Amino acid sequence: MHGLLRSAALLALLAGGVGAATPPIEPGALLGHIKFLASDDLQGRGNGSAGLEQAAEYIAAQFKAAGLRPGGRNGDWFQPFELDAGLSVGEGNSLVVRGAAQSVRLSLGESYYPLAATPTGVTSSAAIDLKNLPLVFAGYGISAPALNYDDYTGLDVAGKAVLIFSHEPQENRRGSRLNGAQPLGETTLPSKALAARSRGARALLVVSDPTHRVDQADYRLFSIESDAEDHEIPVLRVRREALAVLLRAWDLDGLAVQIDRDLIPRSRALTGGRIDYAQRLFVKRRIVRNVVGVLDGSDGARNEEAVVLGAHYDHVGLGGRFSSTPERTGEIHNGADDNASGIAALIEIAGAAAADRARFPRSLVFVAFAGEERGLLGSAHYASSPVVPLAGTVAMLNLDMIGRSNGRVEVGGLDRMPSLKADVDATGRIAGLDVRRGGPGAARSDDSSFLDRRVPALHFFTGFHDDYHRPSDDWNLIDAAGAARVATLVLELAARLATRQDRPQFSTR
Ligand SMILES: [Zn+2]
Ligand SMILES: [Zn+2]
Repeated sequence: MHGLLRSAALLALLAGGVGAATPPIEPGALLGHIKFLASDDLQGRGNGSAGLEQAAEYIAAQFKAAGLRPGGRNGDWFQPFELDAGLSVGEGNSLVVRGAAQSVRLSLGESYYPLAATPTGVTSSAAIDLKNLPLVFAGYGISAPALNYDDYTGLDVAGKAVLIFSHEPQENRRGSRLNGAQPLGETTLPSKALAARSRGARALLVVSDPTHRVDQADYRLFSIESDAEDHEIPVLRVRREALAVLLRAWDLDGLAVQIDRDLIPRSRALTGGRIDYAQRLFVKRRIVRNVVGVLDGSDGARNEEAVVLGAHYDHVGLGGRFSSTPERTGEIHNGADDNASGIAALIEIAGAAAADRARFPRSLVFVAFAGEERGLLGSAHYASSPVVPLAGTVAMLNLDMIGRSNGRVEVGGLDRMPSLKADVDATGRIAGLDVRRGGPGAARSDDSSFLDRRVPALHFFTGFHDDYHRPSDDWNLIDAAGAARVATLVLELAARLATRQDRPQFSTR
């Protein structure tokens, strides 16, 4: 039944079984691709950057050299699509906060910056002018009625601006009823923005709370990588020192101390409190491209069906809000493991498969996705305009971060595709890998775009590490031999999926 795998299986036996198979995929070749893609020349492959386009050209050339045919839109290798690639800063941004006796003028990138900026439904010209908006204080901006704590109880914020502290009360108190020393879900930026917005607030100002007297936000980073989330109202981080005179006048630090003591909210109107806010931040729309190559199946009766092999090639460029170390924004985040490793594997799998095409009765579609780091956008685009219809797509195999194997690989998705377990285990033995069920979690990579459309999809991953989304994710930390084993596993699994008569079932738990 699996005669096509005889040569590789035999090799594994001769070599002594698990841990000692000789991968048909060369670690040195993989590492060569990773060194190029993760070099400083490519500037971290940020979406919308020249480095990303250089990577796209490289991948297309490698697909061609591997023996694939172009699977792009116009007979070329590319599937272009548009995405939001951050913000451009126009003239006239300003924020003024007034109290009864004083007013403070803040400047963008110095004493305030937007954590959230783009209003829904406005794409290119998101100008906002809020004049003389009443300003109210809503404690920590937390609404957690299940824990009997709600900063918004009895507070009217409709049509107003809301000033809150960062973090949460009793943050470091282990016995606190607000989840002890662990952060509350209600403390995240999306939750705080929602709490304000859903009650009609038109802007939210966040000041570092008194237990964080050293304001950890770096206001100048916004000028280097101008970007912000979208929570439908402006959410502005405001420098504590800049607002000190008003915090004192309203005794907000004193109120924070009281809240910390008894968890009774002290929300209120602020005497003379008003803001003027002008926002001239424009969404940068950029064209990026998936790179698509096809290996037509060897069986004319079955090659209308395909297995998709995917990996994203974009990364987070110079950092910014997608970095694990936003304070190091401006440094190149090379993304060797995330995900030059997956792309290198994809290229070498393509070459090995094309050299042995008879093993693949169904077709293979190789897709290098752009836009993953900004929300799985490339795979969503592919799924909406696939090269082989999704109805004929037997399965999708996704490689994201496979460069830190050390003898093992985590495979995500088997719970929904139980019929693939035997094949995964068998190919894991061929590759000499300890196969574990697991992965980064739901919706963390491009396999989700296929699962969402009920295409069976598996995710291959060798684990998070301290260099994840940091400038230190470099090629010299890559386990190339391990990555070659993961690539071997995926190659062998693709051969089984391209061959087996039945198609893997998708179970909805
Ligand atoms: Zn990734
Ligand atoms: Zn990533």
